[in-house]
Amino acid sequence: MTVPIAKLSFWGVRGSTPTVDPATWRYGGNTPCLELIAPDGTQFILDCGTGLRMLGSRWAAPKGGKNPETHIFVTHYHWDHIQGIPFFSPLYVENNEFQFYSFRSKFLGRDSLKQVFEAQMALPYFPVDMSAMNAKRKFKEVDGGDSFTIRENKITARWLNHPQGCLGFRIETPAGTIAYATDNEPGDAKLDESLRELAAGADILINDAQFTPEQLATTRKGWGHSSWLEGVRVAREAGAKTLVLFHHDPDSTDRMVDSLLKRAREEFDSVFAASEGMVITLGAPGEGVQAHMPGTRTALRREAQFRAKVCGMTEGGKAFEEETMVRDLSLQGALISLKHLPQLQSELQVTMEAPGENGVQAMKLRGYVVRIDEGAEKGHVAVGVVFTD
Ligand SMILES: [Zn+2]
Ligand SMILES: [Zn+2]
Repeated sequence: MTVPIAKLSFWGVRGSTPTVDPATWRYGGNTPCLELIAPDGTQFILDCGTGLRMLGSRWAAPKGGKNPETHIFVTHYHWDHIQGIPFFSPLYVENNEFQFYSFRSKFLGRDSLKQVFEAQMALPYFPVDMSAMNAKRKFKEVDGGDSFTIRENKITARWLNHPQGCLGFRIETPAGTIAYATDNEPGDAKLDESLRELAAGADILINDAQFTPEQLATTRKGWGHSSWLEGVRVAREAGAKTLVLFHHDPDSTDRMVDSLLKRAREEFDSVFAASEGMVITLGAPGEGVQAHMPGTRTALRREAQFRAKVCGMTEGGKAFEEETMVRDLSLQGALISLKHLPQLQSELQVTMEAPGENGVQAMKLRGYVVRIDEGAEKGHVAVGVVFTD
């Protein structure tokens, strides 16, 4: 019997508006878009922020014909959750078929999402109109409290506390359960409860972490968002296993997100900060949840030979120090072979010895772990870091 595996990919993680500031590149600047491939092959897309364009450009028809069914859930109609739609190239291809789900907005009435499509592509806001979109599109209205199945997966929708409304979605697959709760603010007793219902016992809870707990209590109160601390509270109370901090503020630099993640990890065992390109596998043998960050963004690699000393924290939370060789170096980071297994998204001190004018000089860098692969040498792991300063 094969083990059912689900794959969750993060194509956009930024809240409110895309960012191109170099200080935000590590977590990424595209607005919300997630993709979940269930064990039965059903493809789910959660939100249509600018990350959707990237997903569309990697779109591949499976060998031997027809695309599998794609079900697209839109949580609400704020720009950051719909802006990728006109730039999603598979929508212009005749044989593709999409089933969209969203709620009836009191501001738009019947066929709200269909109207959003038409409004977004109305002249002069976009160069071509809806007639250019050749893929089949079906629209289904969902309401908070609704529950239904798509093949072997169960979907539940719940209202969240957000201006003009927002739905959270829970997807139960045979490999595990994901609760997607972006754009929500704590403080409404009934909706706080529905958020906990959505997250109950989930393997992964993706929660809005746009603001700091301090901002949430003061200047950003009433803006419709949450914090890492609220996420930790919900995860604890609902018994969710892994928390993913999501919808990063456009003004949050990578260093700021690092520090939110660090604080959250002091309070809760399993936390990740959503990062563009991150993939989480559910149900893989041996471990419930595994996160990976593909190295496609760290180009410009060069082979090198630097003796280095690395200090960091292992997965088990133990400090380690190890001498090694850095054999692959780029302007942004390095690939380091280690016997220790550092935690993904943790910080390593890398001291490299480099030839200088006055003999060998020590070059101290702070690295942030973006990927861990099986090493070429036995008993070693290949650790990809990006340098943060
Ligand atoms: Zn948003
Ligand atoms: Zn919103």
